[in-house]
Amino acid sequence: MKRVAFVIPCYNEEQILNESSEKLVKKLIDLINSGLATEQSFILFVDDGSFDKTWDIIYTLTQNSNFYKGLKLSNNFGHQAAILTGMEYALEKDVDCAVTIDADLQDDISVINEMFELFNKGSEIIYGIRDARNEDSFFKRNSALLFYKLMNLMGANVIFNHADFRLVGSKALKALKSYNENCLFLRGIFPHMGFKTAKVFYGRKKREAGYSQYTLKKMLKLALNGIVAFSAIPLRFISALGFLTTFIALGVLLYALCVKITGNSIAGWASIVIAIVLFGGVQLLCLGIIGEYLSRVYIEVKRRPRYIIDEVID
Ligand code: UDP
Ligand code: MG
Repeated sequence: MKRVAFVIPCYNEEQILNESSEKLVKKLIDLINSGLATEQSFILFVDDGSFDKTWDIIYTLTQNSNFYKGLKLSNNFGHQAAILTGMEYALEKDVDCAVTIDADLQDDISVINEMFELFNKGSEIIYGIRDARNEDSFFKRNSALLFYKLMNLMGANVIFNHADFRLVGSKALKALKSYNENCLFLRGIFPHMGFKTAKVFYGRKKREAGYSQYTLKKMLKLALNGIVAFSAIPLRFISALGFLTTFIALGVLLYALCVKITGNSIAGWASIVIAIVLFGGVQLLCLGIIGEYLSRVYIEVKRRPRYIIDEVID
């Protein structure tokens, strides 16, 4: 029997939290009854700086059942930081494993039993994989597809269609403590750890209530964090581009010399303007890519806290 913590990041989830918490506690009791989890297991809500009634709901829940615990962050630190907070807290509570799930339960909690079986058979990290996403919007489905394809192209080791629904054993939770990065990308960190891993598959469901808290800006930030943290290919691309343009420039130089020697004047205006505009654009693009890396280096060297806990209900 394992002591498990369900870690639930919540940002403005007042519309769905009551319903989700009921389903989660049922699941936990089911695990306890089937001898998979101990009575000391718990459900930990991490309020990521919500400005609606999320924290009030969490407070009421904790008053009504011993299975619930709550952490309130002092600001909106982001989905990844909220999950990290919950996992680090769970580790302090000496759990055997933690299961992270989004508050809207779009990921199917019925596969948690299977996750436990795999954990008992010796896997340290068990990834939940969305093998059908028919319920996602056209945009979500395709932006996600593009994201996984791009990550793959960049040589970053992320698991296709796996988001942040996973079971993590205490060894991996301890290992997580040595990943000190501020620009967190857990989907890259866990595969990087190694350990024995396994996958469970499910169909992703529709959000029953409330709204997606992942704005386009947050999605882009996560994707860029992932690429910058786990791939240096964009930087190499700049070097390759530099070589290529140097070759072209040499070719053009030779051509210009030949024309000069043979006495034909160069009718140069258009080609000069094109070259200036083209290479100006290429240089700005390259500066932008370097800037993405540099800004993250800057964030990392500041070593600011990744999250700040405001209140704890235990
Ligand atoms: N979330 C969070 N902080 C944020 C944004 C989202 O903790 O700044 C939580 C949110 O409450 C949910 C999970 O992250 O539990 C995933 O968000 P959401 O369901 O809105 O994203 P989607 O499923 O649309 O990608
Ligand atoms: Mg969701």
